[in-house]
This record gives sequence, structure tokens and C-alpha cells, in this order.
Amino acid sequence: MRSTFIPLALTLAAVAAMALPQQIPFVAPHPPTVPQHHALTNTAYARFDHDQVLRVQVANDDELKQLEAVIEEQTLDLWSNLRIGTVDVRIPRSNMDAFKSAVSLPHSVMIENLQELVPEQAPASIIRSHGDWNFTDNSFWASYHDLATLNSFTEAMVQQFPDLVKRTSMGTTHEGREVFGMTIHGFQNKKKSLAQQQEDAQENNDEVNSWWSWLIDSLAANRSSKNHSKPEKHPKEILFHGGQHAREWIGPAVVSYIAKELILGYGTNKKITRLVDQFEFTIVPVLNADGYAYTWEHNRMWRKNREPTFVPFCPGIDPNRNWGYKWNNGGSSSNPCSEAYQGPEPFAAKEPKMIADYILKKGNVVSYIDFHAYSQLWMSPFGADCTSIPKDNEDIMEAGMGAAKALKDIHGTKFAVGSVCNIIYQASGGSLDWTYATGGVKYSYAVELRDTGRHGFLLPEDQILPSSEETFAGVLHLSNFIRKREKQWGYMS
Ligand SMILES: [Zn+2]
Repeated sequence: MRSTFIPLALTLAAVAAMALPQQIPFVAPHPPTVPQHHALTNTAYARFDHDQVLRVQVANDDELKQLEAVIEEQTLDLWSNLRIGTVDVRIPRSNMDAFKSAVSLPHSVMIENLQELVPEQAPASIIRSHGDWNFTDNSFWASYHDLATLNSFTEAMVQQFPDLVKRTSMGTTHEGREVFGMTIHGFQNKKKSLAQQQEDAQENNDEVNSWWSWLIDSLAANRSSKNHSKPEKHPKEILFHGGQHAREWIGPAVVSYIAKELILGYGTNKKITRLVDQFEFTIVPVLNADGYAYTWEHNRMWRKNREPTFVPFCPGIDPNRNWGYKWNNGGSSSNPCSEAYQGPEPFAAKEPKMIADYILKKGNVVSYIDFHAYSQLWMSPFGADCTSIPKDNEDIMEAGMGAAKALKDIHGTKFAVGSVCNIIYQASGGSLDWTYATGGVKYSYAVELRDTGRHGFLLPEDQILPSSEETFAGVLHLSNFIRKREKQWGYMS
């Protein structure tokens, strides 16, 4: 059954929701529908019969170089990141002999027959009979959603919480899709409540009472005083997005959950309320909208965007190899048929360009997380240059480790924390290097969500909610860390 949009009911729900945001179920204004511009019934959904995903053991640099060369030469689909340890690669059945004769490294079969995990039909061609979405009971996070549905989620939040959520447009993709998200902030709450003032004063006292923390803070203040002087009037911004890589469906799901928790927690959860009053959270569920739509309509394994290249039958730039900081400095490919195609020049791809422009224009972004899958990693700069370390590394690492611990406390899921160079390998053109080094975003991360390879990109739907819950705990910790640390430095109001 498809739900209908009833303005009166929605208005009543919105009024009631403002009073008791955590208790009122509400309805997405536009139910999921089949996109009109695609004749899906006539379009085959890509099949992967007897494709295997192999986990290759790599012991040293030489072996890694050898494997990288074969992947590039045979244009294979790299599933994990390149690193010493294990590397996951998808090998089509027709390629298996060539791969095995070129690579003599030990390996195991991680996925025996990929087709068994991929839907037979394009998921976007199936009209789902979910009916009305209920965001408060978390049933929305029991399944993955197509672009239209995720966009409806964002629109619903904007419509129903006008004092708390503003619609933020990032730009338009090659195929003309608008990339947009939500900016969540206590826009109406300009004055701190008395209770909050007392709480902040208590927090300050606690901090001053510890001579050890005083010493650390004094050193930190001294270190940072050159960059940050006066308190600022405008709130700092924390920016998250998912879906830079199209097939990593867990990213948009988790990011939309984070938005929902911040929105529904405002006014009911003290910690969340304080953060939402302090920061602007801008959350964009799907950055690479063209690629994401393509995974729902044509090919579940698509990773890149859909921009044309100089090879007509190999479209798509890898947006996360196209950012402008030390672009083309290793770990990316100049071959348009490669899954890691870096593009003809930095910021040739519209997706990284629109986020970079946004960050420069705003000038107030203090934290950025680019959510990916899979491998369970909380990564910091740098990836493009393994000889340099961020000047803020201590804070970046402390915040990241705290986030990973808070994440683990929810369901026991372990995330490794470290720079891209340290926990993976050199990879240039990635988002977090640029946001940190050029965009001035101090707490810049790339997070690889669940799992560690059992399902890879095809993470079962029953893991969406636990993955979302634990990641939200990590994000909450990170935001709170920034709030406290930056307050000590005196450059937040
Ligand atoms: Zn990715």
C-alpha cells in the first residue's frame, strides 16, 4: 500500500512533534516510488555469477606492489584498501586463471559466488510495500533505501522540525540530481538556560580542579594561541556525509540515523541538546547521488560517479581519489576503467568539488567525517603523503580513539584508529587530506564502517541498526570532545 500525503495530518503531527518529538510517529511526505525516467523492466540488473572475492595475504612492500600492478593491469575490483596484511579483490570467473597465474600469493575465498548475495532484480524496480515510515521506532533502519526514499527522509525532517532543521543544498551532479542534506541546530535557542549555565560552570570547575588537566590544557592553549584567539559569534559546524562511494550502502543509512538521533534527541536528551545548541550539524546522506542511484537501478557493485571519461565504455571518476590535496600522488589510477580512477585533474568530479566549495565558503567547519565501508577503521590524515603528520595530530588521535572506544561500548565492535598511511597504505586524492590541509577542518576523518569482510559491501540489513547505534555513540563522543577541547582554547562561544 502506498501512503498518501495528507497536509492536515502532517501539520498536526508537526505541531505535536514539536511538543513531544520522541513519541510521535510521522510520515514521509513522498512514499518511495519507481523513478519515472528509467524503464527498469527492460533493463537487466548486472549479474555476478561465480565471481569470487579473494582475500590475499600480503607480507611486504614488494608483494603489495606486485598485487597492485596486477589489479591495475587486469582492471580488477579492489574491495578493501591496499595494505600489507590482507587485501580483498573481486575476481570475475573469466579472470580467475589469469589472476592466479599472475599472483602467487597465499589467499582464501571470502565470497564463493557473489551472485548469491546480489539481488536478482534491480531493487529500485520493486515497489516496496512499507507503507508509512515510522522514524521513531527505527523500522526505517531495518532496510536499505533508494535515493528517492532517503531524499524523502531529509525533506520530512526539514518540514516537520522547521525550528531545528534547515535544508542545505550542496550542488548538482553530472546527471542533474541535487545533492542535499540537513543542517541541524538549535536555531531558536540563542540564550543558554540557567541550568545549562550552572552545568557549564561546574564542568569548568572540574577541569580546573585537576592540575594535570590544567597542565595539559595550558600547553594546548599555548600551542594553539597563534591560530585561535577570540571567541566567535557564529557556531562551528560539524559536517558528515555518506555515499561518496556508491555501493557502500551502509554509509547513507548510518548517516541518516545520526541525523534522526540529533533531531529527536533535541529537547529530551541533555547531552544532545547541548551539542545541537553549540554546533551546526550538516548531514548529507548521499554525496554521490548518481552512483548511488545506479547501484539501485543497474549495478549493485558500482563505486564511482557517472561522469564520462575519455574512454567511452568506462565512465566514472572515483570521487575519493579526486580531491585536490597532493592529487595523483600514489594509490590512485590514471586509467578510466579502473575503480580508483583519479580523474583528469583535481576536482574534475562534481561531488568532491561541491563539498570543498561548501567548506571554503562556510569557513567554520571544525569536524568532517566521510563515511565509507568496509573494514571498521577510524582514519585520520594523511593518506597522500606518508612522511608528514598533521600538526594537530595529538588532538585528532585522542578524539578518534575516544570515538572508537565509545563505539565499541555499544555492541563490542572494534575499530582500528590511525592515519590512512599507518593503518592502510598511501592513497592520494582522498577527502580527509584536503579537508584538513586545505579546508582547515581540524577534526577530519574517513570512517570505514562494518564489517571486516564477511559480507563486505553486501552487509545484511539486520546490521544497519546496530551499526548506526554504535556509530552514533562514536560521533557523539567526538562532538563532545571537540566542544570541551575547543572551549578550553577559548575559540568557541
Ligand atoms: Zn569507500
